[in-house]
Amino acid sequence: APAMAEAAMAAQAPADEEADECLREYRHLLSPDLLAGQVAFITGGGSGIGFRIAEIFMRHGCRTVIASRNMERVSEASKKLVAATGQQCLPLSIDVRQPQTIVAAVDEALKEFKRIDILINGAAGNFLCPASALSFNAFKTVIDIDTIGTFNTSKVLFEKYFRDHGGVIVNITATLSYRGQALQVHAGAAKAAIDAMTRHLAVEWGPNNIRVNSLAPGPITGTEGFRRLGGKFAEKSNLFAMIPLQRAGNKTEIAHSSLYLASPLSSYVTGTTLVVDGGSWLTSANNFSAFLGIASSSA
Ligand code: NAP
Repeated sequence: APAMAEAAMAAQAPADEEADECLREYRHLLSPDLLAGQVAFITGGGSGIGFRIAEIFMRHGCRTVIASRNMERVSEASKKLVAATGQQCLPLSIDVRQPQTIVAAVDEALKEFKRIDILINGAAGNFLCPASALSFNAFKTVIDIDTIGTFNTSKVLFEKYFRDHGGVIVNITATLSYRGQALQVHAGAAKAAIDAMTRHLAVEWGPNNIRVNSLAPGPITGTEGFRRLGGKFAEKSNLFAMIPLQRAGNKTEIAHSSLYLASPLSSYVTGTTLVVDGGSWLTSANNFSAFLGIASSSA
């Protein structure tokens, strides 16, 4: 029946590549000039979800800056992105824990492109660890990169460009804190603080024509997060059957939802969190002792 076919298509995964490679083919669902003339600054843009966000934005006419610690990684990524999309991509080295490195990168980006319209805060670090085994320093490091790094980068972009020109910020967070996910007190606390920051900054910066939103992905294939956080195990054990949409998500799906939040399609959306997880957090298991087994088998 046609109605069934339409319903199935609405939840069908678009094509994706497992590795940090560009898509071999891409079918536009939205206008290819949706972001024409715009510039996006993407932290963590050299790998995983951030890489795919850069690619999809570039396929919609956007120029990008991809920034993370490893200059070789962002340089390699930038070559692939330029080759696949024909758009400009400037790779830069930053450590989001060090504001002066962000200031230098944003200065360089503005020198090159004269504008920045979109900030994607994607840089993060994560691993599975029970709170009882987590060192003081490990907890602090995750807060430093995820939470403080997101604040540092947002504040530099605000001062250097968004305050006077407006802009849009998308913070990549997670659903970990919603049900107190086992072995994730560090990342859950860090991302929950970012979701709070999203609301605070949306309120304070709305009058400057700045929209601020969070995007919380579920388990996403072809990512470091998936490899480190038990995704492979969940796949083998058929645990994704518990997710309402019965599968993990892919990087293209996260990039498409980011495209919505970064584009004028969401012009009246600010201060909210878009959960992109196939309904996962509502139904997936959160069993402390079972997860300890996964952690030791994937270590
Ligand atoms: P990933 O490829 O490891 O992405 C993390 C990126 O952050 C890397 O490109 C890394 O590059 C960069 N980074 C780390 N520390 C940094 C620092 N101090 N300064 C600047 N950049 C730094 O992992 P991913 O799985 O795609 O995750 C991307 C985002 O999605 C993260 O925010 C993650 O929490 C979120 N997320 C992922 C999943 C999932 O299933 N994968 C689920 C929920 C949420 P360098 O090493 O070069 O610095």
